[in-house]
This record gives sequence, structure tokens and C-alpha cells, in this order.
Amino acid sequence: MAEHEKLTFDELIRHWAKEKPDQVALEQEGSALTFAELEDRSRKIVAMLRARGLEKGDRIAWLGKNARHYFELFYSAARLGIVMVPIGWRLAAPEIAYILGDTGAKLLFIDEGFGELADKACGQMDAAPPIVDTPTARAEIAAAQPGDFAAAGADDAVLQLYTSGTTGNPKGAVLTNANLFSLRLPAEEAAQPWSSWDEDEAILICMPCAHIGGTGLGIMAIAAGIRAIVQAEFTPEGVLDAFEQGITRLFIVPAALQMVVQHPRAKDTDMSAVKYVMYGAAPIPLDLLREAVQTIPGAGFLQCYGMTETTGTIAMLPPEDHALDGNQRMRSAGKAVPGAELKVIGEDGGELPCGEVGELICKSPSNMIGYWNLPDATRGALKDGWMHTGDAAYMDEDGYVYIQDRIKDMIISGGENVYPAQVESAIYGHPAVSEVAVIGVPDETWGEAVKACVVPKPGTTVDPDDIIAFTRERLAGFKVPKTVEVIDAMPRNPSGKILRRELRAPFWEGRD
Ligand code: ATP
Ligand code: MG
Repeated sequence: MAEHEKLTFDELIRHWAKEKPDQVALEQEGSALTFAELEDRSRKIVAMLRARGLEKGDRIAWLGKNARHYFELFYSAARLGIVMVPIGWRLAAPEIAYILGDTGAKLLFIDEGFGELADKACGQMDAAPPIVDTPTARAEIAAAQPGDFAAAGADDAVLQLYTSGTTGNPKGAVLTNANLFSLRLPAEEAAQPWSSWDEDEAILICMPCAHIGGTGLGIMAIAAGIRAIVQAEFTPEGVLDAFEQGITRLFIVPAALQMVVQHPRAKDTDMSAVKYVMYGAAPIPLDLLREAVQTIPGAGFLQCYGMTETTGTIAMLPPEDHALDGNQRMRSAGKAVPGAELKVIGEDGGELPCGEVGELICKSPSNMIGYWNLPDATRGALKDGWMHTGDAAYMDEDGYVYIQDRIKDMIISGGENVYPAQVESAIYGHPAVSEVAVIGVPDETWGEAVKACVVPKPGTTVDPDDIIAFTRERLAGFKVPKTVEVIDAMPRNPSGKILRRELRAPFWEGRD
């Protein structure tokens, strides 16, 4: 094979088809495709895409749940440098119309059951809608006559993933073959056991393919030449079943991990095959992490910090830092993964000393080439190859990063900076609290005042004064919420992240 950092989908698929023809590449509900079959099928998909007149640099989109045929389509389009845009199926028609219009996708592949939503979205587009297809494409794929084709190179774009839209409109991060594989290949020289894979490993893809936590696992599997088990969507039962079927690794967001470990079936589930639980994409409450480590005792836990723009993980907290002995490292998002560099900078752009909070920036071969159609945003985010994460963080002497919160969500109250995540983490310790989000609301005296929105645990009630008193014992006065509101449920985006901006909006209406 070529040098690691120069690999492409085309080379990887051909390589594994030759080296491990009978190894299962993709599996869903018992229906499996080996690497040899993937190569055959992929060549047919390539022929189908070319027959449709698609060329390198064109966009195609996918609307549907996770599916084996999504991954086949993505891998195959990538061989040609046709850029796949997976769209979250939980999005509403106008949001889908926005993404379709933004990308200018020529073809939209949909999964069964998504015809109505696709038609509705296409009907709301200002630009010409894409051709919507699926069943005919399948017949066409079966009948296609594969031929020679010019494969995309390492620096060609292959994937356009939209950010989660937690802080504003989702932005399309454009990623190349080199971005996808630079950090994901099992490095023979890597000292860490989790960066190499055994032959018989299987990875579970249960997070949505419209996010790096879903599609990124397919990328990892094709890089490592191992079996990927695809589940249409996350359910805690599905994950527990997959544990019993012997999956060895998975990636899961904290909200989903909570549902798995607190599921009544969890204690009777055989989890002995699981080697690594990767978790991240949002801050994790420490108590939940401890509970998870106790519930899946045989597994190594790997906290993953990253963003869509960095093709996912750029910092990892290794298993040895998950000891349940009160170590402080468990609060860290980890250290830069091999190949990536992290720095914390101040407002003037200079690097800050250890322990000081500033913006976390990252230099990595996995950094996107830019946002689609957003030159200003790209210039603001990528400077001299450094991706500006928009996350406030500090670093310790050993290079461990501690994420405070998003800079945009920071509350300035009476001139003091308050990071909502820290306040939330303290309030999570209260026995009646199921979920909490902390926001800043306008305040005559302080500029902004800290407010906590709390969802009580089922069957309990939350007394706002009690929460305030509880927090006062644990945090400095200026961080203690001035008000606590009890709400029924948290607004979340499809990747499970709490939308603080929605909680904040009613208080700031008509103001800046
Ligand atoms: P948008 O950019 O559209 O507002 P988003 O930032 O949520 O949405 P993603 O790219 O999916 O979109 O998420 C990246 C962000 O998620 C990071 O910038 C960080 O704030 C948060 N994040 C990721 N991993 C972790 C982690 N392990 N711990 C805490 N926060 C994390
Ligand atoms: Mg972001």
C-alpha cells in the first residue's frame, strides 16, 4: 500500500479485497458483504454513477437512517471523488432543503420510507431540486457493467459533513481522502494498543451517519480492514444486543451511553467481548462516566474530543486515565492523538501558559479544507492550517486538555467568566436532577445572570432554592445560578446535544 497519509478509498477497497477477500466488511441485520463483494459491488456503483453523468467534484446526498447501502454508496462515490453529503433524517423539510440547496447536489439517494420527506424538502428549495432516487438505482446497480475509471487522489474531496448546528446554522465541512485517513490508519509504530486492530474485531455504527460519530466509524473500519456492523439508529437495546453479538468497539455520545448503562437489561448483558468504548462529542457528567466504567468493566474507555471540521477525534483520553480512584484526569478530554497538535491561545493569538483558559486550536492532517460556500467562515476558522475550535480550554503540563465550554456559551456575569459546563457538572451531583443546562440571561446589575434549567428525575420534584443552596456549597458565588427553572425536557439536536441557544432565545428576544 502507499504511505499511510496518502491512502484513498480506491486503494483501500482494492487492498482489502485482495488481502482479505472473505472478511466481512459491512453487515446489517445479518446481511453481510465481504471485502471481495464490496469491491465488486462498488465497481458497479461506480459504473452507475458514471452512467448518470456524475464527475469528480459533483455532490450527491443521502437521506435516510444508517444503512449498509449508504456506506457502499459513500465508499464508491469517494473512489471517483464524487462528494457524499449525508443528511440527518431527523431534520425538518426546510432544514433539508437548505442543505440540498447549499450543496447543489445532483442526486439525492433516499432510503425506504423517506420519499415523502424528500419530496417535501425538494418542494421547498429555491434552486433546482436534485433527482431523488433509490429503488431504480438499485436495479441499475445490479445491471451495471463495471469498467476502468480514474480514481480520485488523496487531496480530492470525498465527504461534505454538516456540523451539528449547536451554535447556529450547520456548516458544510469539506473533507478529502487525506483528511479522512491521515489519523485513522492503524499505525504499526503506534505505541497505543487501541490504534491497532485484531483480525476478528467488529465495530458498531449506531450513531447517525450524518455526523462524524457515525460515518467516521465506517472510515475507521475501511482503514483497518475490519467488520462494521451497521444499526439503522441508536437504541439502547440495539447496543446491548450488539454487545452480546460480540462487537469489540463502538462510539457513542454521552446521552446514549447513559441510556445503555441505565437500561434494566444492562446488568444481565454479556459485555465481555467489548474492548474499547469510545465516547465524546459533548461533555460527559463525571458520575455517568464512573457508572459506565463500572457497568462495562472489561472495556477500555476512550474519551474522544473533536469536531466535524477535524474529521472527528483530535484528542483522546486513554483507558489508563479512567481509574476510579478519584483521579482528576477523568475530567480531561485527553491528549492530542499522534499526528495532531493542540495549542491554547489568548485573544491576541499568542500561546497561553499551562493552566490558563483560552481558545483551543488544532493543527492536523485531518483538518477540513474549508466550509462549503462560506469563505469568510473558513478564513475565521482555519488560520495557517490551525483549526480554531471555538472551545474554551486549558492544558496541563502533560498536554492533557480540559474543555471548559464553547466560547459562544460563556456567561459574563459581573465581569467574571462563567463556563456553563462547570456549573452543570456541579448541579448534576444533585440526586433529583436528571438533566441540566445552564445559560446566561439579561440582568440589569450583572450584565448577564446565571440561570439553570433542570429536568427532574422521574418521580422526584426539584426545589429551585435547594439547587441554589446545593450549588453554593460547591462553587464560587458568581457561578451559582440566580434562578432555577424546572422544565419537562431538554431541547436537543439530532446528535443528542443540548441546544442552550433555544433555552436562551426567549430571554434575549428584542435584545442583542
Ligand atoms: P456547530 O458547529 O454547528 O455549532 P457542533 O459544534 O456541535 O455544531 P460538531 O462538529 O458535531 O458540531 O461538534 C463539535 C463540538 O462538540 C466541539 O467543538 C465541542 O464543543 C464539542 N465536543 C466534542 N467532543 C467533546 C468532548 N469529548 N467533550 C466535550 N465537548 C466535546
Ligand atoms: Mg462547531
